[in-house]
Amino acid sequence: MGTTLHVTALAADRGAGVAAIEAAFAAVARLDSLLSTWRDDSEIARLNAAPAGAPVPLSAELFTLLAEALRWCRATGGAFDPAVGPLVDAWDLRGRGRMPSAAELARARAAAGCDAVTLDAATRTGRRRSRLSWLDTGGFGKGAALRSALAALVGRGAEAGLLDFGGQVLVFGHPPAGDGWRIPVAHPAHRTAAALKLRLPGGLSAATSAQSERFVTLADTTLGHILDPRSGRPVAPWGSVTVVAADPAEADALSTALFVLGPEAGPRWAEHHAVAALFLVDRDGRLEVRSAGGADRFVVQDVKDTITIGG
Ligand code: ADP
Ligand code: MG
Repeated sequence: MGTTLHVTALAADRGAGVAAIEAAFAAVARLDSLLSTWRDDSEIARLNAAPAGAPVPLSAELFTLLAEALRWCRATGGAFDPAVGPLVDAWDLRGRGRMPSAAELARARAAAGCDAVTLDAATRTGRRRSRLSWLDTGGFGKGAALRSALAALVGRGAEAGLLDFGGQVLVFGHPPAGDGWRIPVAHPAHRTAAALKLRLPGGLSAATSAQSERFVTLADTTLGHILDPRSGRPVAPWGSVTVVAADPAEADALSTALFVLGPEAGPRWAEHHAVAALFLVDRDGRLEVRSAGGADRFVVQDVKDTITIGG
């Protein structure tokens, strides 16, 4: 999935801990073989390469994951769109970046959306609507993999632990010391600096979405890797969203969705759906923190008043 997983586990003894960690990595490798769009031999890559309109038989596990992703697409009014692939292509976000023409953008938008790939439960197949349509699992694959890794760890007797998958964190059980797991939230403009520190009880995952993570530079503009499916354009950088949820796949999908919805509509959506989310909004170099769904209860260190960017 193009990122690094770090696993820390507490178990009865070293052998049990190592076996649990190995099972977690095996679970993530299996999810990668289902969901990765960075290799052409994964199951999703075969669906993405199939002729438009042709039903492609899917494993039960992939079918369930894709159905879940498409549910998030509908629930967020298309802000989270796993079929964002044609827009990734139009902007060449996996290459050097390019500005699509109006016609190219219109074609890509028509090939994206919650109906661009349809699933049929009776035959357990998936079908691409057009030859431009493809599913990009980047917005939820890490969360889905964390869910499987947790099941593997617990199944092998791990009692507690912390998983960090390219910035999405999952904690379970009691931490070795202290009254909760301490998790830093990166500053949206300076990713190596922590803007906030969270204290999470075991059983929660924190996923962050921002445009500072990955982007391509084109002339004098930077194109972030999160697209607004409503306009077809990369979301302009405005800060970051961190979602805290029990289900890591939900945290992953919703952090992406809320980043698309932005600093005004995002908190309203999160509040309405009781999703714990922290919005770090860049206001002319100062960071404003907005909490929705009671997420402020997780914040132990709030440095918003002391942070000033660029002087
Ligand atoms: P990261 O993977 O860097 O932690 P996200 O979870 O926010 O960040 O996922 C961003 C990735 O999701 C993009 O790189 C792209 O693959 C995909 N993506 C981009 N825009 C959307 C969108 N509106 N809905 C769903 N997935 C998206
Ligand atoms: Mg995400």
